[in-house]
Amino acid sequence: MSLNTSEKIVRVGLCGLGTVGGGVFNVLARNKELIQSRAGSEIRIIHVGARRDNSAVNIGSVKVSRDIFAVVRDPDVDVVVELIGGTTVAKELVMEAISQGKHVVTANKALIAHHGAEIFSAARNKRVTVSFEAAVAGGIPIIKALREGLAANRIEWLAGIINGTTNFILTEMSEKGRAFADVLKEAQAMGYAEADPTFDVEGIDAAHKLVILAAIAFGIPLEVDKIFTEGITKLDIRDVNYAKELGYRIRHLGIARRSAQGIELRVHPTLIPQSRLIANVSGVMNAIMVMGDASGPTLYSGRGAGGEPTASAVIADLVDVARNLSTPYANRVPALGFVAESVRSQPIVAIGEIESSYYLRITANDKPGVLSKITHILSDAGISIEAVIQKEPQHGETSVPLILLTSRILDKTMRKVIAQIEASSVVEGSVVSIRVETLDK
Ligand code: NAP
Repeated sequence: MSLNTSEKIVRVGLCGLGTVGGGVFNVLARNKELIQSRAGSEIRIIHVGARRDNSAVNIGSVKVSRDIFAVVRDPDVDVVVELIGGTTVAKELVMEAISQGKHVVTANKALIAHHGAEIFSAARNKRVTVSFEAAVAGGIPIIKALREGLAANRIEWLAGIINGTTNFILTEMSEKGRAFADVLKEAQAMGYAEADPTFDVEGIDAAHKLVILAAIAFGIPLEVDKIFTEGITKLDIRDVNYAKELGYRIRHLGIARRSAQGIELRVHPTLIPQSRLIANVSGVMNAIMVMGDASGPTLYSGRGAGGEPTASAVIADLVDVARNLSTPYANRVPALGFVAESVRSQPIVAIGEIESSYYLRITANDKPGVLSKITHILSDAGISIEAVIQKEPQHGETSVPLILLTSRILDKTMRKVIAQIEASSVVEGSVVSIRVETLDK
């Protein structure tokens, strides 16, 4: 397929006219001249595939098909923008676009996380580009930053708030003292959370984004099934408050880190010192910290979702397609930022082998000697205590919360120690444990 370079028009087929599709249409219309003067070509939507109209979009005279595959098969379309979501029809659509020799821009993290390898391989064979800046952290150009801006660096780790829904819930819990279930209900009513919030609150959406970031940071394949994923559904408001007392905030982080054993890939609630900028990223905002060996720590923050922020990323990818028209295929930025032959599997570290500090909440009997008994169990395992909060019993209570911050220890050792503490006669019920990250080196 040859693009219409002589006319300097990149002809776009837009599939999906929902939140993001509508945003792309409107931002392209509003900033048309500006975008053209940056891209060197006009980026013109010539065909929209949508099952229904979107009242927020004035589609004008642009051709509309109710069958999105009509867009992919339109010989005048140079680039297909996939904004329907999901991994079934969307995959078919993207693979067909590639087989038709069309470039693809997508915001679909689930699609890239699960089928990226197959899609990129097909794209290389057809010498077309598949871009996905909008798939991670909406309006934040984190993929470009990792793939291009930080290309000189050996990335040591990255840690991100990459799901706005969970961050909104945690912020409300922390700032207003509200319970998880209560905030979730409000998030759903405000349209921040889906009717089925599982993908967000169980960390699946964050895992999709983390696997993409890790692949670009470390040059490893997309292996979404290897990510340790823990959601925020079990988070208790008491722990949010005790964390605050200790000078920490709880954030739901996606962490990818290079270690002596391989690569750590994990999504879980994490205590972060309040003094870190990322700990203060509130509400639906996203932020990602990246540690490069040359750059040192860098932080990217902004709106991780929403029609126009996400459209900003989609259109940046379209501008890249336009700018690349005259660039030989081999000289274009590879999908994962590493040339395909250099993408190599590395061992993914099992969660038990990962070391971190821990926040522990123990419901202890209100009797003398309890703290010393627990301290002994910890010190026998080589764990020291960095901070303690011990509350006075309320009227008639026979047990009190004991809050500890520990030194760094392997996860598997901590699990054994927790089992020992739970089996001892001085505590009631289960011990709550949350990982702590200082994000300083
Ligand atoms: P959305 O508002 O639900 O829009 C999806 C659109 O695709 C709807 O218009 C839907 O039509 C259409 N569609 C779905 N399946 C279709 C099919 N088989 N044939 C024709 N049309 C179909 O979703 P969105 O929020 O814009 O998200 C789109 C993509 O962007 C997803 O991959 C999402 O993960 C990603 N993303 C979204 C955001 C965000 O803030 N929303 C941020 C980053 C990335 P109907 O209305 O007829 O179902």
